[in-house]
Formats: sequence, structure tokens, C-alpha cells
Amino acid sequence: MTAPAPRMRWWGWGEDGHDAPLSPAQLALLEGELGALPPRRDPVALDDARLPDATLPDAARAALAAVVGAEHVRDDRLARVTHAAGRGYHDLVRLRAGDASGAPDAVVYPASAEEIAALLGVCAQHGVAVVPFGGGTSVVGGVEAWRGRCASAVSLDLARLDRLLAVDRETLSATVQAGVTGPALEAALGEQELTLGHFPQSFEFSTVGGWVATRSSGQASTGYGRIDALVLALRVVTPSGEIATRALPASAAGPSLRELLVGSEGALGVIVEVTLRVRPGPAARRYEAFSLPRFAAGVQAFRTLAQTGAAPDVARLSDEPETRVSLALSGGERLATRVLRGYLRTRGHADGCLVIAGWEGRSDTQLRARRTKTARVLREAGALALGSPVGAAWEHGRFAAPYLRDELLAHGVLVETLETATTWSRLLELHAAVRDAVDGALRARGTPPVVMCHVSHVYRAGASLYYTLVSRQEAGAELEQWHAAKAAASEAILAHGGTISHHHGVGRDHGPWLGDEVGPLGIELLRAAKATLDPAGIMSPGKLLDPAPLPGAGG
Ligand SMILES: Cc1cc2nc3c(=O)[nH]c(=O)nc-3n(C[C@H](O)[C@H](O)[C@H](O)COP(=O)(O)OP(=O)(O)OC[C@H]3O[C@@H](n4cnc5c(N)ncnc54)[C@H](O)[C@@H]3O)c2cc1C
Repeated sequence: MTAPAPRMRWWGWGEDGHDAPLSPAQLALLEGELGALPPRRDPVALDDARLPDATLPDAARAALAAVVGAEHVRDDRLARVTHAAGRGYHDLVRLRAGDASGAPDAVVYPASAEEIAALLGVCAQHGVAVVPFGGGTSVVGGVEAWRGRCASAVSLDLARLDRLLAVDRETLSATVQAGVTGPALEAALGEQELTLGHFPQSFEFSTVGGWVATRSSGQASTGYGRIDALVLALRVVTPSGEIATRALPASAAGPSLRELLVGSEGALGVIVEVTLRVRPGPAARRYEAFSLPRFAAGVQAFRTLAQTGAAPDVARLSDEPETRVSLALSGGERLATRVLRGYLRTRGHADGCLVIAGWEGRSDTQLRARRTKTARVLREAGALALGSPVGAAWEHGRFAAPYLRDELLAHGVLVETLETATTWSRLLELHAAVRDAVDGALRARGTPPVVMCHVSHVYRAGASLYYTLVSRQEAGAELEQWHAAKAAASEAILAHGGTISHHHGVGRDHGPWLGDEVGPLGIELLRAAKATLDPAGIMSPGKLLDPAPLPGAGG
């Protein structure tokens, strides 16, 4: 068997031919918001991508090949470039311009935990950095092959660990290999009428191992729970040996090793297997939209939903700018959208906030009862029910935004997302602080942005805030421009009681702010864990701890 083919095109999201061209009306809308945009620009050709010279010693390469077979060690241009970066904005800016400087020297494709243990031994012996690679959809610089103190680096691609190993129907759990992608997992569980219910927007390409390594959160996490809540047990191969936590409903056997390893982002070891809590697949689904007059009213209503057990499984509240832009971009010229906007205007909701609510369950009757509870809370907050067509449109397009992002980049638009979470008592303060910080940073560079935000994961104690920023790219200084916005947002998040990440993880990009969140002793504790599990420091240098320099940081 040869090494698996790359799942995504090397410079963007998805496969070739799956494009989302902007209509002239959408382009006009963008130019109205951001100012004139430059002519459309395509990415450079693969042959023009610039790779660092490969430095993997022949002896190390031969030893790696002896473990997995020569056909599973690749150092051709396509393999290296497709493992050079994740899928964050700065990754795509650099890849489109042909900058593949984050490429590993080689890509290794193991097929078992035993092979991974042997590979880590080879890499420790030869001083080769190892970067675990799931779907490569990291947006925080997680998969770039930073070498740290090592002379060379390999990407350890888990695509061949792609099997559902066991299902325990009594416990409602499933044990899977880490390289299984979202669609493959749901298809395998679906055959047994089960679901995990974890649907991040990157679902099509991201993997179980990546979700667990980054503490991912799916679009329906309000109902199903974040991935950390869905992990019953995991098996991790580290350079010092293997740790397999027990599948237990609960345990008081000291601090939780499971918690230490979930979110370890490849810095402590390689997650090879995960036992997940699954549940019967829903027989009924319903997605609906509502409009609320103001974001603040929506936040209060979402708090009530979360604290009274009335929250839907998908609970999403857009602020005013996000509602305005998404209604316009989703086809402002179309009759249905014009009618909807006319209706909102006549009801005093012209500048309102869109709510998407989704319920999934065993029967229509059960769904109707839950919907009634949710709708009552929203109505009391002044909501207008917009019915299921807008909700169905959201469901239909729930994985579409990354394709649109490629198109926006072609048109010279900065489009970045960032996220945080805080308590209900500080949510509105944080919402405004991050918006103002990003707006100020980009305005100062002469590229005023549109900063949009939504609440999408609600808890009894608080909620996440997910921002999308768009502005004109600063030609020739795209990375410096990105860094200015990122630094401003991160400072504001920490100053106003947020977490540096609710679900994207730390990677490299949030590393500079991790110490502010967990404190110096917290960092020392993480360092001690790393020194025990990875004494040679080969696991993902520059991620989580001691971050590598951020793109654009010098400008
Ligand atoms: C368009 C887009 C939308 C997104 N939407 C969401 C969303 O809705 N919710 C969300 O939570 N995230 C989202 N993300 C972020 C990203 O998809 C998640 O972080 C995801 O969990 C990464 O999975 P992956 O398999 O692609 O991991 P990768 O990107 O391959 O790796 C991510 C990190 O985990 C490490 N890693 C990967 N596999 C393993 C393993 N088996 N063992 C140890 N370490 C490992 C890597 O070294 C890296 O540090 C989105 C990203 C994009 C580009």
C-alpha cells in the first residue's frame, strides 16, 4: 500500500474544483464595506512553492523507512508542501504566495501504535523533531514543522490509523484510531445507528486525534458537549513510553491524566486511540431562526436558556454586524432575502441579531417539546420567530465558509477568525473590548475592518465568543497586518477576563499569551510533564510551550 494522497488542495480548503466564486453583487457589497479591492489573484503554481532544503540525515531516513516501509516515508514536493502549514489565515497567505518554509523534511505514515513508538525512538536517537498531523486544519500554527533545537523535522501523518476498533453498545462508547476523519467516523457509527454529535466547521477534513489534541468544540456542542466531555479514555504514545487511561464513568484516583493529555497538542506524545462517548443517532432534527432586537438582549436570553435547561443543541447568536453582513452575503439580491429583510424592518428588527437554534432527538414529539421551551425564553426576550427555511439554509451551508474564505483571499481580503470564552457577567464587556481592539489596530494601519461576532457554545457559567474580521489586505504587509490584529485581540481577551482559546487550542499562535492565563507555576508544571514524557524535546517544538515566532511579528 502506498502512502495516502493529500486530502486537501495544497494552498487552500477542500479539493480542486470545489470553488465558491463571489457573485458581482457580493463583490460590490464587499467593496462597499471595505473599499476598492485589487484584481483577483490566484495562488502560485506548486512548482514555484519555495521549500527549505531537506536536512534529514540518510541514516535517520533509512531507520524511519525500516519501521514503516520505504513507501511510507515521503519527501517529494507535494507531500512536504501539504504538511507545511495548517489552514489559518496566515497559513493560506503564505502558501498562496509560495512560502512553504514550514515544511518538514519528510512525511512518515505509520500504521500502528507500535510503529509510532519505534518512530519516536528513531527520532529521539537522531534528534529529529516530530509533528503529529491529523487533518492539518489547525488555525493556530499547530502543524508547522518548527525544528526548535532539533536539526530536522518530520511530519507524522496519522491517515493510516483510520479504523473504528470497537463499539460497546451497553456503555454507549466507541473506540477509534486517531486518524479517522469526521465523515468516516459518522459513517461508521451511522451503520450502527449511533453518532458522536461532534461537528466542527472543519468536520470534513479534521480527525478524532486532532479534535482531542486541541480540545475542539462542534457546532452542536451546547447539546452534545465539547470533545473533552466526549472522551472516555485515550491511548497516547510518548517518547518515554505509552499511557492508556482506563475507560471509566468517573474516578477519584488523583488528578486526571486524561485531562492532562486531552489538549496536549502533540507536545507530549501521539494520541493513537480514543474511546468516545456516543449516543443513538437522532431520528428527528429541526433548525430554526429567530431575530432578537439587540445583542445584549440575546445574551441575556442565552444565559436563561443555559441556566434553565431550555437550550437547544445548536445555539448561535450573531451580533448586529454579523447579522447584517451574513444576510447581505447570503444573497442580498435574492427575493427571499429581500422579503425577510423587509419583514425585519417592519417589525423594528432592521438592525437585529440572528439566532440559529437546532434541536436533535429521538422523535418529533420530543423535539416539539424542547422547541416550545426554547421559543418561550426567546419570545420573552423580544424575539421574532423566522421559521425553519432560514435555519435550514444555515444547516445547508454549515461547512461552506472555508471555501468562501479561499475566494476572499483571492480578492485581497483579510479574513480571520478568533475565539474566546468568559463568564456571563463579563461577556458583553469582553465582546466590546475585543471588537474595539481589533478595530483600532486595523484602523491605525489604514484598513478599517468589519468585526463580526457570535455566541455559539453556551454553558451554565458563560459562553464562547467567535469573531470574524474582514478588511482590505495590506499589500506587501499582509502578515504584519494580521499580527497587529491578532496581538490586539489577544491582549484585550486577557485584560477582560477571557481565555486565550475556547476551542482552537494554543499551538504556536497563542503560546505568547498562555503564561498570562495559567501563570508561571502553571507553565513550570507543563514543562515538567513535557520533560518526563519527552526528555529529548522532539515532540512538536515551538507549540504549546516556548512558542516559535509568529508570522509578521517583526513588522
Ligand atoms: C475552516 C476551519 C474551521 C474550523 N472550525 C472549527 C470548529 O468549528 N471547532 C473547532 O474546535 N475547531 C475548528 N477549527 C480548528 C481545527 O479544525 C481543529 O483544531 C481540529 O480539531 C484540528 O483537527 P485536525 O485533525 O485537522 O488536527 P491538525 O490540524 O492536524 O493538528 C492540530 C494539532 O493537534 C496535533 N495533533 C493532531 N493529531 C494528533 C494526534 N493524533 N496526537 C497528538 N497530537 C495530534 C497537531 O500536532 C497540532 O498541534 C477549524 C479550522 C478551520 C480551518
